[in-house]
Amino acid sequence: MANPPRSSPPVFDALPSLAARVPFLPLADAPTAVERCTAIAPWLGRDDVWMKRDDRSSPVYGGNKVRRYEFLFADAQARGCTSLVTVGGLASTQVTATAHLGRAAGFPVTAVLFDQPITRWTQEAILMDTAAGAKLVYGGGYLRTAWRFLRAKKAPGAYGIGPGAATPRANLGYVDAMLELAQQVARGECPRPDVIVLPTGSSGTLAALCLGAALVGWDTEVVGVRITSAAVCNRLSINLVRARTHRWIAARSPEFARALGPRRGRFRVYGGALGPGYGYPSAETPEAMAQYELLTGRSGEVTYSAKALLGLRAVARDPAYAGKTVLLWQTLSDVRPAVPEGTAERVAPELRWVLGAGVVA
Ligand SMILES: *Cc1c(COP(=O)(O)O)cnc(C)c1O
Repeated sequence: MANPPRSSPPVFDALPSLAARVPFLPLADAPTAVERCTAIAPWLGRDDVWMKRDDRSSPVYGGNKVRRYEFLFADAQARGCTSLVTVGGLASTQVTATAHLGRAAGFPVTAVLFDQPITRWTQEAILMDTAAGAKLVYGGGYLRTAWRFLRAKKAPGAYGIGPGAATPRANLGYVDAMLELAQQVARGECPRPDVIVLPTGSSGTLAALCLGAALVGWDTEVVGVRITSAAVCNRLSINLVRARTHRWIAARSPEFARALGPRRGRFRVYGGALGPGYGYPSAETPEAMAQYELLTGRSGEVTYSAKALLGLRAVARDPAYAGKTVLLWQTLSDVRPAVPEGTAERVAPELRWVLGAGVVA
């Protein structure tokens, strides 16, 4: 059941000076539901684990980027930008989200793609991106990708959305999401979580949930299941994202700085689900993908959803968390945009090889 569009997100009610300074474009079908993970209770070893259904955050394309784009797209409009330029891996959910949500909001989208392991999901992503009419540019290696992204961003009227869309403005979406969850807890829809588990890459979501927990006065620990290497995702990098996000919001909202005081929220990084690296399957991902399908009725994928469940199980079965309320924050879109007949023929020539490549999962 769809919620009516929100003219004012909870974060504007909590921090009124932001409302005057930060543009907002409603995109999310929020509040997203909170439910028990009953279907996979045997696998988790407990029947009292909850999930926040941000997989259903939009009927266009849900998941983790919708709440960020409520603030980024509004900023693009406020600056008079007329197109979006983003960057991600060949299987990037961010690129698919930008392609579909961007089109729905009236923006032409260009995306520069870097190499990552080819899975069935990667091939599906290229088709879904193409079906949305996005202009796909093959970057390949990181350097060439960075150069092509910078060049595409220079186009007149282009609004750039960098890797992970992890800027403070975008992260505001997950401070807002935490206020939404606090309202659901206050209404008795679910217990207050002691632990929140989610997959973490650029870590904007994790950092924002920490700040959100501090804002609502919860001592909740946020556990980031690392989906990329420890060189780019670690305590230091997350502390930096969190500090930058805190500074950005505090500069626009004295009530935010006052409410938090020295508190910044608590987090931990779980690295045991990564396997060989970003986008690669591990020995355990097939099993986790089957559980994801049991839980949501949708096929999962290797990069985020399977590894998040492996991290969730590790937490659920850890004696240190016995008796604690655990909540999985779902981040992968439940909606898989339709790929009309003939889409494969419309894939950019420089990316057609992806559709015929051998897959690792
Ligand atoms: C972007 C994304 C994440 C990771 O969010 P970060 O804020 O970059 O850590 C997790 N899951 C999905 C499906 C995503 O699209």
